[in-house]
Amino acid sequence: MNSYWAAYAWLPDGCHAGVSFDVADGRFAEVRSGVESRAGQEVLPGVTLPGLANGHSHAFHRGLRGRTHSGGGSFWTWREQMYALAARLDPDSYAALARAVFAEMAQAGYTVVGEFHYLHHDQRGRPYADPNAMSNALIQAATEAGVRLTLLDACYLTGGLAATGHLPLDPVQTRFSDGDVDHWQVRIGLLSDLDQLRIGAAVHSVRAVPAEAFSRIDEAAGKRPLHVHLSEQPAENAATQAFYGCTPTELLDDHGLLGRRTTAVHATHLTDTDIKTLGSTQTTACFCPTTERDLADGIGPARRLANAGSPLALGSDQHAVIDPFEELRGLELHERLATGERGRFTPAELIMIASEAGYQSLGWPEGGRIADGALADFVVVRSDSVRTTGARPDQIGFAATAADVDQVVVAGQVIVRNGQHQLGSPAGLLRAALDQLEKP
Ligand SMILES: [Zn+2]
Repeated sequence: MNSYWAAYAWLPDGCHAGVSFDVADGRFAEVRSGVESRAGQEVLPGVTLPGLANGHSHAFHRGLRGRTHSGGGSFWTWREQMYALAARLDPDSYAALARAVFAEMAQAGYTVVGEFHYLHHDQRGRPYADPNAMSNALIQAATEAGVRLTLLDACYLTGGLAATGHLPLDPVQTRFSDGDVDHWQVRIGLLSDLDQLRIGAAVHSVRAVPAEAFSRIDEAAGKRPLHVHLSEQPAENAATQAFYGCTPTELLDDHGLLGRRTTAVHATHLTDTDIKTLGSTQTTACFCPTTERDLADGIGPARRLANAGSPLALGSDQHAVIDPFEELRGLELHERLATGERGRFTPAELIMIASEAGYQSLGWPEGGRIADGALADFVVVRSDSVRTTGARPDQIGFAATAADVDQVVVAGQVIVRNGQHQLGSPAGLLRAALDQLEKP
């Protein structure tokens, strides 16, 4: 057992001074606030936060950072660059890249990641000898980086949606597709949970999965997390309206896919009815503010969704930025730009969205909070850096960056100490992984 005393820590009811807690068998115990430190306790200066959840990740997109900004374009031209990168990966190069990306996430303060995984098959679209070779590369990478993983294995069957119906796959997209929903179901049935691994399901989008497949996906997901990209771009709404005569949200709702286990990723372009539907079904909306600004997606109705009843979560998605503080304040700051009002979300709401709500969305309802019996995941943020000096502990999320993360603990194990990941420099790991990919 380890025993800690935090100068400040976020508990479920807010930020407290003088918080003592023990960690035994990977869980918190004896959490007390307003107390002095005891002999033998490790003192945590700064502000201790619950573990932070990255609710939406495509690990390989990290290879595009800082390389997509010349020549203008749109989400759709960015996607062409992403496909070119996807075409080059194999299980070994993906394991190396994902290990580096998950280490970067851990060092930034993320303790659990939801990997929305659709790059399943070999360069010609055929299953590898192990049909889950790519999934297992991601699982191995997360294990080595020390973060919890929810592998959201995506069903991806068609190349897009037009007014006339779904389009055939293009050559790169054949790597994403199992051919039909039956083969997808069989393949994900071969995966199972581990201590720090949960298996979930995903509908890539209404563009990539025809509605006829939804009931099988619903059945395969059962009570597991089910994630879906939803209305990130107006073109998806237009195509869905033209072919199905309804919005993507309505289509998912008509087939029973919305609800508490489901997370709609982005939820950017919604009608008033969509917002009511997502809220009343308590479907989580996972916002990815740094990606949504990077890809010129737009600003989704976060406050209105929360008011309607949707829990919110956060993800770094394509990893133009890996910084949980940028995401959590991005949610609020985008609302400010859109509405002309400050304080659309309180600092306490933002911490809860970044931690407990994200854990819930990823199928870890027992984590994301510092409380007796909860998973012992936490993040210590420096309050003496040039960025954070002078910030109130309860508002540190508006001042800190990933560079201020000093210590990260997952299941009671220290994976980042003094700001350094246990595997060494994530930058060095990234350099090696990207060099391997760029070899002719
Ligand atoms: Zn995504």
